[in-house]
Amino acid sequence: MTEITRRDFNRLAAGATLLGLSEVPRPALAAGPAKVVIIGGGPGGAAVANRLKSADSSLNIVLVEPKERYTTCFYSNLYLGGFRTFKSITHDYEGVKKRGVTVVTDTATRIDTLAKMVILAKGAPLPYDRLVVAPGIDFKYETIEGYSPEAAKVMPHAWQGGEQTWLLKEKLLALPDGGLVVMAVPQNPYRCPPGPYERACMIAHFLKTKKPKARLVLFDAKKTYSKQAVFEEAFDEYYKDIVEINLSNEIDDFSVVKVDAKTGVVTTKTGRTERAALANIIPAQRAGAIAASAGLTEGDWCPVDPVNFTSTRAKDVYVLGDAAIAHDMPKSAYSAVSQAEVVAADIVADLHGKPRSSGHYRNTCWSMVAPDNSAKIGGDYVPASKDGKAYLEVKDPFISKPDDSSDLRRQVYQESADWYQSICEDLFGETPLPNFRNP
Ligand SMILES: Cc1cc2nc3c(=O)[nH]c(=O)nc-3n(C[C@H](O)[C@H](O)[C@H](O)COP(=O)(O)OP(=O)(O)OC[C@H]3O[C@@H](n4cnc5c(N)ncnc54)[C@H](O)[C@@H]3O)c2cc1C
Repeated sequence: MTEITRRDFNRLAAGATLLGLSEVPRPALAAGPAKVVIIGGGPGGAAVANRLKSADSSLNIVLVEPKERYTTCFYSNLYLGGFRTFKSITHDYEGVKKRGVTVVTDTATRIDTLAKMVILAKGAPLPYDRLVVAPGIDFKYETIEGYSPEAAKVMPHAWQGGEQTWLLKEKLLALPDGGLVVMAVPQNPYRCPPGPYERACMIAHFLKTKKPKARLVLFDAKKTYSKQAVFEEAFDEYYKDIVEINLSNEIDDFSVVKVDAKTGVVTTKTGRTERAALANIIPAQRAGAIAASAGLTEGDWCPVDPVNFTSTRAKDVYVLGDAAIAHDMPKSAYSAVSQAEVVAADIVADLHGKPRSSGHYRNTCWSMVAPDNSAKIGGDYVPASKDGKAYLEVKDPFISKPDDSSDLRRQVYQESADWYQSICEDLFGETPLPNFRNP
């Protein structure tokens, strides 16, 4: 299909027909194809765009994303461990454009939910019939004294993909052998609950193989964490003298409350300090800033109806992915894509005046703990209600066990590699990546 240009879109927005996309019955709306604007080209936003386009090619779909390339956080820990290249986890939007989605490289600065208009930093405002908000996360820098976007250039969080991921790996490569790496992990809820511990394993693997005298100290604001038994087994089996995990308890609160980017000193709430040669500070998080400025948040995150992820704060607006309150459902790329399927189906049904059905969701989070050894956790999620409050409840949960056989762990690793290829093909329309290693 011919690529839809920005000019074409503006003509379309003004009511012109375009590219013969109108064989499919038109939505029961005002004249012209219905306009769906999507903010954010991560797994949530990109998956909605692609699914909408394949469900109803007559829709006028605009995806707003400031970056020309998207580096996935998922599999970024494998890049740190040396199992993937940066290139293999970085994707452009050419495949999305080829599917007929208008990709606008810009930032949404404001949403006027009454006028149904998205205001952009550079381009003309975008009117919408339905709006999908999937901006991912922003950081609560203010929760750690001395931490800021500037300090993150010295002490990277690498909890958003791209420059930060690259920076953390460069700093690992430059670490002196014998240097100390310090990781700070926040309270729930945050993006990818098992992510910090997979990262600890992958950094430890890197140290073990490239800087054998270096060590990793992890400070955790929490008392327990996702897939804990499996990770504890891995820390013990593979990284015993390399990794020290400090979970908070009744006496010690290991929340990192202060950092000094000049000296590398990291301080916990109950006063333990370490001077890091490299600090990986993952601060507490909130929904991407545009969500709060549009009035879509309640506290840090966006409340939605679990049946279809419509915002409870604004009409004809959906919020999905990490920015949404999805209750038991973790903030993961897998979750975001599962939510996107429901959102796209709901938009199409709604625009065509067809019955709308209740969503059923799924998640799996894989974590690599050592070469050929991955563990997983997941389940199905269904809308439920308690005391008059709607939420998502987990059904049929599953989790890897510490004593799984090595064959099973190898299979789980392969499953995760296959998932990574298929999700990237699905999101970015790329031919599958070779399943290569970069030792
Ligand atoms: C280390 C790590 C490992 C992970 N591993 C896994 C894993 O193995 N499996 C898994 O399923 N998940 C994993 N995750 C979680 C996963 O990366 C996120 O849950 C997922 O990216 C969320 O998708 P999203 O679309 O909600 O947000 P994002 O991926 O953050 O995408 C949001 C997009 O919106 C754009 N945006 C923000 N504001 C605006 C604006 N104002 N205007 C326009 N665009 C805007 C951003 O540029 C961004 O590209 C991992 C995360 C981390 C940090």
